[in-house]
Amino acid sequence: MAVRKKTGRKSASKIASKTASKTASKTASKTASKTASKSTSRTAAKKAPSAAEQLAEYQRKRDFEKTMEPSGASTRARKPSRSAATKKLQFVIQKHAATQLHYDLRLEIDGVMKSWAVPKGPSADPSVKRLAMQVEDHPVEYNSFEGTIPSGEYGGGTVMLWDNGTYEIENPPDDDMNSAAHDQYERGELKINFHGKRIKGSYALVRTRGFGRSASKPSWLLIKHRDEDAHPESESILTTKYVKSVTTNRTMDEIADGTRVWHSSP
Ligand code: MN
Repeated sequence: MAVRKKTGRKSASKIASKTASKTASKTASKTASKTASKSTSRTAAKKAPSAAEQLAEYQRKRDFEKTMEPSGASTRARKPSRSAATKKLQFVIQKHAATQLHYDLRLEIDGVMKSWAVPKGPSADPSVKRLAMQVEDHPVEYNSFEGTIPSGEYGGGTVMLWDNGTYEIENPPDDDMNSAAHDQYERGELKINFHGKRIKGSYALVRTRGFGRSASKPSWLLIKHRDEDAHPESESILTTKYVKSVTTNRTMDEIADGTRVWHSSP
């Protein structure tokens, strides 16, 4: 554990040399946990990987002396709270003008934010299937991050808080919402009820086969269910209707102009 704690501060080259072996062991542990969850799903759900394990990739990819993104230190220290296990879970959608513009959907599961890059952003039209490429888990502190990641750093570009709020798993078997989310995530089929300011109502997030980039980072589809919050894109499109920050009401340009870019050296 002592070695892991230093990961965020290590130089990129030191970390790179360790990447290969870490990836291999991560794959092995994932396979093991998947097998376990199939046989005893509810018991396995209680033994989810720790936040520290889940955030290792996030921390390896970033130099926290150069980016103002949160390191995840407080997520790692946090024990899953009783309220997180039994009540509504957090979600955030961040508009991210990186090399290619996309919307990052993050769902709180097992004490971290499971994350997907959605190139076209969410749709309220049930006839539209949005590609959602899974990316590394993010710390819960990331839910309040808005600003600019320096160019040249991982994910360099402007990040806007596009929507946030809570979500529920539809028809959970009991009042343990996190376990329900964990189980559906492991099965690759989440049925989500969003309580956002912009994204609302019932959605499916389904893992696909065939056009995923790799086994550990598969592609999913985000699809609106037919309900009172659904509407056709011919009526309005969520991503063009809402172009300002849900928390600061700033445009992408205003965030890019007005936000400090942190560098450790002058
Ligand atoms: Mn992103």
